[in-house]
Amino acid sequence: MIVAVDGFSSTGKSTVAKLIAVRVGLTYIDTGAMYRVVTLEVLRRGLIDEAGNVNEEKLNKCLSSMKISFKYNEEKKCYETYLNGENVESTIRSMDVANHVSSVAAIGFVREFLVAQQREMARNENVIMDGRDIGSVVFPNADVKFFMTASPKVRIDRRFKELKDKGVEVNYEEVKANIEKRDYIDSHREMSPLRQTADAVVIDNSYMTVEEEVEMMVKIIETKR
Ligand code: C5P
Repeated sequence: MIVAVDGFSSTGKSTVAKLIAVRVGLTYIDTGAMYRVVTLEVLRRGLIDEAGNVNEEKLNKCLSSMKISFKYNEEKKCYETYLNGENVESTIRSMDVANHVSSVAAIGFVREFLVAQQREMARNENVIMDGRDIGSVVFPNADVKFFMTASPKVRIDRRFKELKDKGVEVNYEEVKANIEKRDYIDSHREMSPLRQTADAVVIDNSYMTVEEEVEMMVKIIETKR
């Protein structure tokens, strides 16, 4: 079974997808983390300039040496992201990565590289995968597709609180600018832009609790089992 969860930044996709994974018995795959890992490597190697232009030739050469994986942390009871054996889970959530990820994710060969891995991960498992192009490109035949949305104000407030709670030094305007920029680039890029497919169940969670949302989504998934 494949459940696709797409939508705008900070619509709570990963929060609900993780809970649903446990409830329904699916493996959760965070595709945003994969784009963030490539971005981290781009930043570490100095392959991006202030304007967001990536040195694509150099990136293309080092891409195949990046081994991205997810490992379960028994203590924290969650999956964490690894790059070549290094735990990068908290590093990829930094504002620096967030500010550059949409430029990196717009590069065609980066998408091809990651989409191939995402399809491979679902080959022998039942998965719930969250991202921007899961129902439209990665798995157009997914059993269930959700498209999550919420008002920009609600999303910015949530993201700001989440970062503050994690102890990240940010100001509200910076978070607002980052969400607006990512929304724009993610929905206007040439390859696999963020799109709501005609067969997706749209969920506006601006005024829903996480519990209400999970209940509603689990019910829909169960009708397809
Ligand atoms: O989901 P998250 O906010 O962590 O994703 C970070 C970024 O990765 C998005 O803003 C988008 O640019 C990119 N992304 C993508 N396709 C996906 C998942 C994420 O382009 N399937």
